Parts: sequence; C-alpha cells; structure tokens
Amino acid sequence: MKRVLIIYTGGTIGMTRTENGYAPRAGYFRAALDAIPDLRAPEMPEWEFYELSPLLDSSNMTVREWNCIAELIAQKYDDYDGFVVLHGTDTMAYTASALSFMLDGLDKPVVLTGSQIPLCEIRSDGRDNLITALLIAGEGIVRETCLYFGGKLLRGNRATKYSADGLIAFVSPNYPSLAEAGISIKYNEAALLPRQEGGLKLQTLDNIPIGVIKVFPGIQFSLFEAIMTEKLRGIVIETFGAGNIPGDGNALLPIIRKAFQNGTVLTVCSQCPQGAVSLGTYETSSALKKAGAVSGLDMTTEAAVAKLYYLFSCGYDKEKIKQTMEENLRGEISVS
Ligand code: ASP
Repeated sequence: MKRVLIIYTGGTIGMTRTENGYAPRAGYFRAALDAIPDLRAPEMPEWEFYELSPLLDSSNMTVREWNCIAELIAQKYDDYDGFVVLHGTDTMAYTASALSFMLDGLDKPVVLTGSQIPLCEIRSDGRDNLITALLIAGEGIVRETCLYFGGKLLRGNRATKYSADGLIAFVSPNYPSLAEAGISIKYNEAALLPRQEGGLKLQTLDNIPIGVIKVFPGIQFSLFEAIMTEKLRGIVIETFGAGNIPGDGNALLPIIRKAFQNGTVLTVCSQCPQGAVSLGTYETSSALKKAGAVSGLDMTTEAAVAKLYYLFSCGYDKEKIKQTMEENLRGEISVS
C-alpha cells in the first residue's frame, strides 16, 4: 500500500466563512476530510495528515514557510511514497518553484494543489483536486515538484496562476503538461524529469532581499534608484516582449550599472507569459546585456525569484549566480 503525507498549509481549500471573508481555521479541515469517505476508498493511497501552524492565506507565505514545508518533506522523505502540499492558489506557483530548487535530488512526487472554492461549499473544486493529487502522489510516476489543478499536472516551476476565479487557474505557457486527468490520468512521459539517484539534499533558504520591477510606458526609472543599494542582492526586471525596455535617454542603464557595481544580480524576464527573452535582438535590449544583466530566457518570474533565493542561499558568488541563472537546474528553463 502506497503512503502519502498531506501537508496542509492553508488556502481557500480549507477556509470557512468569517465576518471578514474566507479564512483558514485550525483543526477544521482535518474533520472535513474525515467526512469524505472516498478519500479512504480502496483505490486511494493510505494518507496521513500534517497541519502547519499558523494556517495561512497564501498571500502571507514567506521564506520561513517554504523552509518549514521543505524541512518536513526532508524529515519524512523515507516514510512516504509521495507528498501532497495543500496551499492557497495566490502564491502556489512561487512555493512550487521554491520547493523544486530546495529539494535537490528529489525522486518522489511532491504535488501542490488547492482550490478556488472552499471544500465546505457545494461546488468546490477541492475534492477532485485533492483526490487526483493524492492518486498522482501515490503512483510515483512523476518524481518532481509539480502542481495539479483543474485536470492538469504541471511542472511546479513552469506554472503560473492566470485566473483569479476560473477553475482552471494555472497554466504552463512554456512547457507541456506532465499529465492530463480525464477518464484516466495520462502521463506525458517525455516531459518528466529523469530519475534522481543521489538521494535528497535539502537547501533551506535565507531571506535574501530581492526585488521585482515591471516596466511600463512612461516608467520613471529614477524613482528606483533609491532601492538599488548594496542591500539589494537580486532583482528580476519584467520587460516588454523579448527583453526590451524603454530606451528613453537610457535612464535605466546608469541605475543598472550602479546595481551591478553593488553586486546585485539582475535577471531579465518577460511580461509575455509565452516565449523567451532574447537579449540583443533589439536595440532596446542590447543595452541591458551590455550593462551586465542575465537572461531569464523562458523562466516565469516566480521561478526566477525562487532561483535567486536558492542560489544566494547556496552561498555562491555573484559570477556563479549569474552563470547559473541561465542554466537549467530543475527543468525551469529551456536551454538549447
Ligand atoms: N487567497 C487564497 C490563498 O491564496 C486564494 C486561494 O487559495 O485560492 O490562500
């Protein structure tokens, strides 16, 4: 009998109504699961339940909670065949990305899921998401950090939340689904990460100061000068299209150069969910390259942020971090 550990962190799936809107309540969700007999059906893996404290709306997730989740998985790694992490949808793609880097050598499924409608509501999508995530975690075909939602299993560090209210809330614009759950669960074997044999190695994260800037027409770059101090270790800049920024007087470049002199690693991602950054294709992006920025290629912003946390926490120097940002570590980036 396969064994799966459910790690419940909070999120809509386990929330109840309060006078201030939906919120998680300690102890409530475990009892709600016991009231679903299908979760103990013979086809289901055996599961145990661990509730984190405090339960969070995932908007409140921090590096501290990522460390708690990853440490728990590492501690219990040999006791279970797979893990299901129940999580709010708002930052699920960030947590999935962070776990993918932190759990080096992972060779078991870690499946994040949640719901858009709480389990206590009649039309909840939580029941199917949880049951299918448990089956995937028990089957052990996928051996990586992934995210199951609305019938699709996505690579965790390729997923991004794209709908605030649809039941298919996540997409993976630059990588195919790992599996589709229709009448049966069909795996896309060619898309899965290969088996890992060296054993699990946990890298916890430090709370590194990281920033994200999204450019827009008319952006006054000088306003950002104040944050470009030596305190800022990494920054993700969400540019237009393939890595383009407004050239207007090249106001950004002196700031970027300053950031670089301060040792800040600047990674360029795109505001377009699909496609890759290609620094130097347009005049408006070659300056970024010359100023020392690294290309996030087709990484999501979520993955780029998590990767910066991870690489700095590994203690690498700036040059190694710059180089590794453009390399594929866990299937998060397409490198030809
Ligand atoms: N605000 C909720 C959360 O992220 C939304 C959800 O779970 O769907 O925890």
